[in-house]
Amino acid sequence: MTIAIYPGSFDPPTNGHLSLVEMGLNVFEKIIVSVAINPNKKTLFTLDERLELLKECLAHLPFDKIEIAAFDGLTVDFAKAKGASAILRGLRGSADFEYEYQLAVINRHLEAQVQTIFLMADYHWFFISSSTIKEAASLGANIDALVHPAVATSLKSKYKTSQI
Ligand code: ADP
Repeated sequence: MTIAIYPGSFDPPTNGHLSLVEMGLNVFEKIIVSVAINPNKKTLFTLDERLELLKECLAHLPFDKIEIAAFDGLTVDFAKAKGASAILRGLRGSADFEYEYQLAVINRHLEAQVQTIFLMADYHWFFISSSTIKEAASLGANIDALVHPAVATSLKSKYKTSQI
């Protein structure tokens, strides 16, 4: 079985993340969406909130092909522990490339059996990141078309804004 882990912060999950998982299921038999626990990184949503949001966002996908998990420590260690041969990452453009390239090379140095596989972001979501969504939502923008309804509702309650 070809298993990939898809690690990230998912703070919060966006339609870009979801589209990457959907595309990834054409390549991998199972994807483990893996929320990184990083106490040094300040997040808007708690770990539990992000896990719950992912659960809602991915509920339409076959349950036997998707797992949602939290992990700390090295990504490659988590991949190995889960029996995954790949780390799935998304590329939105050259801005992502340098950082992702460095990560992929260091991860391959740490564990040669696990390869990082990149999928290009869908053009609909090319300019979408969790950060821009949070910034827009914090200013009261309507982000309903860019995230799952559960995420939109949670963002609104975090920022207590009304739609414009
Ligand atoms: P990290 O903090 O590890 O970058 P993110 O949650 O921001 O975590 O992103 C996780 C992965 O999802 C990264 O590989 C990122 O490039 C990818 N990603 C983020 N937004 C999009 C998008 N709009 N389309 C495709 N991939 C995306």
